[in-house]
Amino acid sequence: MFHTEYLKFHTKSHREYIHITPQVETIVKKSGVKEGIVLVSAMHITAGVYVNDNESGLIEDIDEWLEGLAPFRKDYKHHETGEDNGDSHLKALLIHHEVTLPITAGKLDLGTWQRIFYAEFDGQRDKRVIVKVMGE
Ligand code: ZN
Repeated sequence: MFHTEYLKFHTKSHREYIHITPQVETIVKKSGVKEGIVLVSAMHITAGVYVNDNESGLIEDIDEWLEGLAPFRKDYKHHETGEDNGDSHLKALLIHHEVTLPITAGKLDLGTWQRIFYAEFDGQRDKRVIVKVMGE
């Protein structure tokens, strides 16, 4: 059995980290799948999906860590195309674009502190995440 839905985002900030575990749980429940997996995947090249702690200090640490590894700069080769989001692409590569999570007994089977986040690196525009539930 397959069940597909899309989450929509239009962030106020250029970079944002949005907790989406409740939305994914709702979709899993609605799917009726008891045993299977759910794919949660950003449909963009400047956004990502990751699993980690929902703790505001850590989220700030992640943001600083990404800015350190892939800082906003004017001199990326990508900007020769007229774009200015070279750092957004690199940050998205570091976070990766998708996660696959287990469903057991009809519920998202996450570890105690595991939470799902949408990471926006080039926001203030319409973005989507696909949530595809697979199983029986
Ligand atoms: Zn670009």
